[in-house]
Amino acid sequence: MAKIIFLGTAGSAAVASKNIRSSGGIILAIDDSLQFHIDPGPGALQKARECNVNPHRTTAVLVTHNHINHCNDLNLVIEAMTHSGLERRGVVLGSKSVVQPTDGSHPFITRYHQNLVERIIPLEKNHKIGIESVEIQTIPVEHADPTAVGFKLFCPGFTMSYPGDTIFTPQLVEHLKGTDVLILNVPYPGKRGQGLNLDSDAAIKIISQAKPRLAVITHFGQEMIKADPMFEARQIQQATGVQTIAASDGLTISPTGYGNYHSPIKGF
Ligand SMILES: [Zn+2]
Repeated sequence: MAKIIFLGTAGSAAVASKNIRSSGGIILAIDDSLQFHIDPGPGALQKARECNVNPHRTTAVLVTHNHINHCNDLNLVIEAMTHSGLERRGVVLGSKSVVQPTDGSHPFITRYHQNLVERIIPLEKNHKIGIESVEIQTIPVEHADPTAVGFKLFCPGFTMSYPGDTIFTPQLVEHLKGTDVLILNVPYPGKRGQGLNLDSDAAIKIISQAKPRLAVITHFGQEMIKADPMFEARQIQQATGVQTIAASDGLTISPTGYGNYHSPIKGF
């Protein structure tokens, strides 16, 4: 059975560095045979262990952009995936800033680690890649890293979308239509995003137009933690009529049976 596990829910360096929440990324596991690790930020391996995720079983690592909360542990995750290079395996799909030299910056993945994996795919804003039973489409997003991309994964029985860090755009909403489980990075509460990243207000706009079956908010900044992500999720749910939950570190959901997730948050 498919599972989505939130290894971390920190959305700012402040939240991660104070160890309020981890930022180890998101695991999507399908039928024991396919495992995706999305945005392996700081704490990826440690949280994987705590959540009983075996990083050696990862099939592909997907990275939206080169900010530290999203890719810090990429090389470490590759070591774990390949047994430090004993087995050349796995795929890395990343924004160009993560896997290629770009203007004035070198790629986040080291040359050494590039040689440990089977394939590295630099992503365009409109890209389609098949990995076994899953089709991955990139979602065009707008963020400080101009090469940033989001992901829409067409899996057997459900579709999951994760735009990563972005601001609201009508184009984004179009790409998110037809999603069952929508995971949104919402670092800011209310209308506090200031055009930098999503806030709850922008999440309401996206969710009410894209109409997923389940929305999960994650990637919380300090203001969001103070405002209480659970409260914000409730506001979003009330405004959109779409079941919305706030992720917590270690939260596991079943993307095909929504009543079937366990959350430490009571009342959801
Ligand atoms: Zn970012």
